[in-house]
Amino acid sequence: MRRRTVTNWGNYPIVEAAFTETSRQSEIAALIGGSDEITIRGNGRSYGDASLGDNILSTLRLNKFLDLDLEKGEIECESGVLFSDILDVIVPRGFFLPVTPGTKFITVGGAIGADVHGKNHHKEGGFASHVISFDLVDETGVVRRCSPNENAALFWQTCGGMGLTGLILRARFRLQPIETAFIDQNSIKSANIDAVMKQFADNSSSTYSVAWLDCTARGKSLGRSILQLGEHTKLADLPRQYSADPLRLPPKSGPSIPFNAPAFALNPLTIKSFNTLYFNRQLSERKTSIVHFDPFFYPLDGIRDWNRLYGRNGFVQYQFVLPLDKSEGVVEILEKISRSGEGSPLAVLKLFGKPHPNSFMSFPMEGFTLALDFKVNEKVFGLLDELDEIVMKNNGRIYLAKDARMKPNVFQRGYNDIVPSGRFTSAQAKRLRNTS
Ligand SMILES: Cc1cc2nc3c(=O)[nH]c(=O)nc-3n(C[C@H](O)[C@H](O)[C@H](O)COP(=O)(O)OP(=O)(O)OC[C@H]3O[C@@H](n4cnc5c(N)ncnc54)[C@H](O)[C@@H]3O)c2cc1C
Repeated sequence: MRRRTVTNWGNYPIVEAAFTETSRQSEIAALIGGSDEITIRGNGRSYGDASLGDNILSTLRLNKFLDLDLEKGEIECESGVLFSDILDVIVPRGFFLPVTPGTKFITVGGAIGADVHGKNHHKEGGFASHVISFDLVDETGVVRRCSPNENAALFWQTCGGMGLTGLILRARFRLQPIETAFIDQNSIKSANIDAVMKQFADNSSSTYSVAWLDCTARGKSLGRSILQLGEHTKLADLPRQYSADPLRLPPKSGPSIPFNAPAFALNPLTIKSFNTLYFNRQLSERKTSIVHFDPFFYPLDGIRDWNRLYGRNGFVQYQFVLPLDKSEGVVEILEKISRSGEGSPLAVLKLFGKPHPNSFMSFPMEGFTLALDFKVNEKVFGLLDELDEIVMKNNGRIYLAKDARMKPNVFQRGYNDIVPSGRFTSAQAKRLRNTS
């Protein structure tokens, strides 16, 4: 079997693995049945080690569209189909994804495996809430149809179950109708973390909300932010310059980072300068505009391979959520990050709504979630362990799709359970079960 070096989006950690990619169900069943352990991988857009292991089965060749029902607004496809390919098909026909993360380069299997959330979690919940059914191959090679009504326990264990229950072969999910490919965007500047948290509460009726937050600012400016709210633009409100093609797709390719940046490229000084420039780019307190969905939902996808900016050693993303009544813990964490000088130029704050009542290992709980990048260096892991203490003290949890270093006790405090161990595993599952 072919062995190769594999890494996910953070370029940390890097593993040597047997790597198989196939579109044939019989081959998948044989491979699963003939292996002691197997790790399922979508497009490797999780940041850490969730889809890394010794024996990786990639789903990227499971890339066929199976059905598009425009009457009902439903789509069915194989699990390796990318959101970017789905958007190409559905947007010109007047539909959008019900929930989408901050990159469109993920597979449908990865979206279900991590039960991904978007800027509309407070309204629409996670991706799993929109899944009608999927077919799952278990460790004996048997395929089961799972839905909220059929094999329901397995359905909910798989949504957010990080690939530990089996391999999703194909899935059917609901789409949402849109009149245009544009978004009414409202950007609101907030002087600090308290102000932006209040803005989230005041704007809870907005369909989409997300705040970009400067985690290097201190004192009275701690957590100064730009909150972006969004609604799908109605056809009647679209400016004339776009009206000839209201459901247009974005241009295909943007610039890319051609190689890993040198170690000095991102340091506390360059990060602070970037944040100051970004924050002062918007002069007025409020700004409204109509923007295409692509830069609104996927600003980072505009620069391909931007993960190389963090250099050869890679980076880790730290995303946690705290219950709403513990929101002051977010301030404590921000203070620590700001003092450390290690914070990234990309800190994103969202307010989650209530989780689905049946969710098992899904990340969201009602409260604020903050996501930040940290370049891997000798100081960072100690700092993140200290942040974990604050998360645990406040009954919060860390997002598995971003994690590469959490310790088992932090996981156990944050989550009620983990899928029972079996043939399906990952470097992350072994680390969190502490069995490697
Ligand atoms: C720039 C960027 C922004 C992001 N923003 C967000 C965000 O806003 N919200 C959010 O929730 N996430 C976000 N993410 C994380 C990303 O959406 C998730 O990690 C997603 O799971 C990646 O999908 P993938 O196809 O790349 O899967 P992988 O990363 O390869 O795998 C993710 C998990 O899903 C499992 N899996 C994959 N395919 C299958 C399958 N067919 N059957 C069973 N299990 C499977 C894997 O075993 C693994 O545990 C972001 C990532 C990036 C790089």
